[in-house]
Amino acid sequence: MLDYLIVGLGLAGVSFCEQLEKSNKTYTVISDTSQTSSVVAGGLYNPVILKRFTMAWNAKEQLDLAIPFYKALEKKLNVKLDHKLPVLRRFTSIEEQNMWFEASDKIGLNHFLSSEIHKNKNLNIDAPFEFGKVLNTGRIDTKLLLSAYSQYLLSKDLFLNETFDHATLHIASEAVSYKSIRAKQLVFAEGFGLKKNHYFSYLPLTSTKGEYLTIKAPDLNEVNAIKSSIFLIPWGNDLYRVGATYKWKDTTNLATEESRTELLQKLDAFLKCDYEVVEQLAGIRPTVTDRRPLVGQHPKHENLYVLNGFGSRGVMIAPFASQQLLNSIEMGEDIHPEMNIARFTKKHFRN
Ligand SMILES: Cc1cc2nc3c(=O)[nH]c(=O)nc-3n(C[C@H](O)[C@H](O)[C@H](O)COP(=O)(O)OP(=O)(O)OC[C@H]3O[C@@H](n4cnc5c(N)ncnc54)[C@H](O)[C@@H]3O)c2cc1C
Repeated sequence: MLDYLIVGLGLAGVSFCEQLEKSNKTYTVISDTSQTSSVVAGGLYNPVILKRFTMAWNAKEQLDLAIPFYKALEKKLNVKLDHKLPVLRRFTSIEEQNMWFEASDKIGLNHFLSSEIHKNKNLNIDAPFEFGKVLNTGRIDTKLLLSAYSQYLLSKDLFLNETFDHATLHIASEAVSYKSIRAKQLVFAEGFGLKKNHYFSYLPLTSTKGEYLTIKAPDLNEVNAIKSSIFLIPWGNDLYRVGATYKWKDTTNLATEESRTELLQKLDAFLKCDYEVVEQLAGIRPTVTDRRPLVGQHPKHENLYVLNGFGSRGVMIAPFASQQLLNSIEMGEDIHPEMNIARFTKKHFRN
């Protein structure tokens, strides 16, 4: 009998496995590759909402946990995951510059928004109103993390690369059984795949599809991430990620011509050198109507749990949310009320 069965190996699944290892719990993971969000993510961690110059929800607390979390993973997996990367917000007007300076004075934001104008030194980038620099930001190589982590699990015989069939699950009060696996608790970390999970499909999870282009621009020589209407993220070897899009109707992981055109138009508005598109990627951000994660226990089946709804900020939220979930299961601690699925379940399970 295992302590835990986990379904889904994206950022949520990896983070929960790490909590289990710290607590010496036994577990197995089942995952397929039907969802690609964690693999295609830009991987940026940035606590500031760069449209409005406000802090993202609970961002400081999440970041304080996330940085040591990925550092420890680097050591354990022997790979480089955390690339420190300043983010430069390209201003579009004097008014925006003024708003930035006002924001950089506020408690909390002052830790992350540089109060000096960052002059544009790159002749291949058009930035007549210069930049604001966000401090303490970076990029986690999520693709490398997931491939290294699945290898790690395989080497310990803790990973099954297959699709979980919810109809085959048997739930009893003391344990769940799935094929030959018996576990005391089952955590679903399926990203947008949750839509096919009838135990939790009542939750208001929606899709926000995102697409990225990878371009090769040998003359660009930019070492910062640039945030204009889209991000331009240095990826090494003259490669840059350009994106991402936000689409709410298409729930496929397929790249589209429409998004390619949109991204190139936005890129051409500030990039002045030649480039070539070498790749296009798409994934579904698991988003919630109230923009908060979905974490907690099923209202009727006490050994079923969900860890989901990280939206566009999985890198920072995953370590925090997974720690809260494990502490609630093992130690009876309260899950942050804004993340706890109890906020939705009351409405659906009144009796
Ligand atoms: C284009 C794009 C750019 C992004 N950029 C950033 C960024 O810069 N910074 C940031 O913090 N976040 C970013 N995100 C968001 C981030 O990627 C997500 O918040 C995060 O990846 C969600 O992780 P997850 O583990 O919940 O879901 P997923 O990554 O979707 O993982 C779920 C896993 O469960 C598996 N699964 C599902 N159903 C089943 C089943 N029935 N059986 C077996 N396995 C199953 C899936 O195949 C998948 O492997 C971006 C997302 C996209 C799409």
